[in-house]
Amino acid sequence: MSTTPTRQDFDHYMTPNYAPQQIIPVRGEGSRLWDQQGREYIDFAGGIAVNSLGHCHPVLVNALKEQGEKLWHLSNIYTNEPALKLAKKLVERTFADKVYLCSSGGEANEAALKLARRYAVDHYGEKKDKIISFNQSFHGRTLFTVSVGGQPKYSQGFGPVPGGILHAEFNDLESVRALMGDDTCAVMVEPMQGEGGILPATPEFLKGLRELCDQHNALLVFDEVQTGVGRCGTLYAYERYGVTPDILTSAKSLGGGFPVGAMLSIDKVAKSLAFGTHGSTYGGNALGSAIALAALEFIDTPDVLEGVQKRHDLFREHLETINRKHGVFKEIRGMGLLIGAQMSDAYEGRAKDILPLAIEEGLMALIAGPNVLRMAPSLVIPEADIAEGMARLERAIERLVASA
Ligand SMILES: *Cc1c(COP(=O)(O)O)cnc(C)c1O
Repeated sequence: MSTTPTRQDFDHYMTPNYAPQQIIPVRGEGSRLWDQQGREYIDFAGGIAVNSLGHCHPVLVNALKEQGEKLWHLSNIYTNEPALKLAKKLVERTFADKVYLCSSGGEANEAALKLARRYAVDHYGEKKDKIISFNQSFHGRTLFTVSVGGQPKYSQGFGPVPGGILHAEFNDLESVRALMGDDTCAVMVEPMQGEGGILPATPEFLKGLRELCDQHNALLVFDEVQTGVGRCGTLYAYERYGVTPDILTSAKSLGGGFPVGAMLSIDKVAKSLAFGTHGSTYGGNALGSAIALAALEFIDTPDVLEGVQKRHDLFREHLETINRKHGVFKEIRGMGLLIGAQMSDAYEGRAKDILPLAIEEGLMALIAGPNVLRMAPSLVIPEADIAEGMARLERAIERLVASA
């Protein structure tokens, strides 16, 4: 006889590196979820910018069922139709000429960093090995990506870290210029810092990075793991800026909830990922690729992409209305459906206190650091769910204010 799992089982059986909320959702449909007790939640969290079409979208469920009854996995000893279709679509719709498929954002970034190093070795020699990234940036949890990330607390305490990594100040071109030289291999940047607090890059900053990289024969790498696949209202955020990278990484929304990642690059760079240099057992798996292709084709339409901008405006209006009444936010910012509300001075560091209150009111939300409430809902969240979710958020905020 099997018993129903409880939240206590998490503490018994799982490594303690997460601290999940007390509820256990068991079913989802669109932007609503239900827990073990049948309580309903509106989803503004989107599985951290992953559930790009909400939960169990029929297009994704169909892709899963159809491919699931045909072929799941082969390894890269063989290629497969869904992976080839996915790669073709990514190449046709972006700056890129070549695609490397994998299963997560960290893996895509690991591949990007290894490729950048390899390209530098191939063309300029071993000494061109410096990677410049930014304070507060986030690029994944492998030892290389976490070291390139700009939050030392995530990379400390694991022994020696990879060398040749320098950190500059985000949106401060002079701080990059000061570190840049002929030994610079690549600059890795998020067009909008996600985990770091929903901070969009300025257009001048990204344009300046492009120029600096060109001057020093360094590669420009955009980490679009969080900002990509419609999240910012264009297929990728770089389109909004009119700045084209040499390498771009994608994951999260790409699989709509299935673990899929991709590293996109221009031809002359891709050549350095020659046969045998890198790989992944699951990368480009038929099942995952079929689902990612379905997600990508559904999202890459004017209807969905323009809808993201409309929903952005709605989120902003609701948050501003809440703020006029309660004065909890200092700034509301973001692009598309990646939105951050920075707490005002009186509520400094208290964004995380909203999350359990929101759960009690029937809303799932996120934070980005201690001081920013973050929302990354489905790109097709219905207007009624936005309104209801905001009513629940307001009740949670009223309780935060009352407890202050
Ligand atoms: C989430 C995230 C990653 C890491 O992705 P994983 O799939 O967790 O490995 C990397 N970069 C950015 C910008 C992210 O938001």
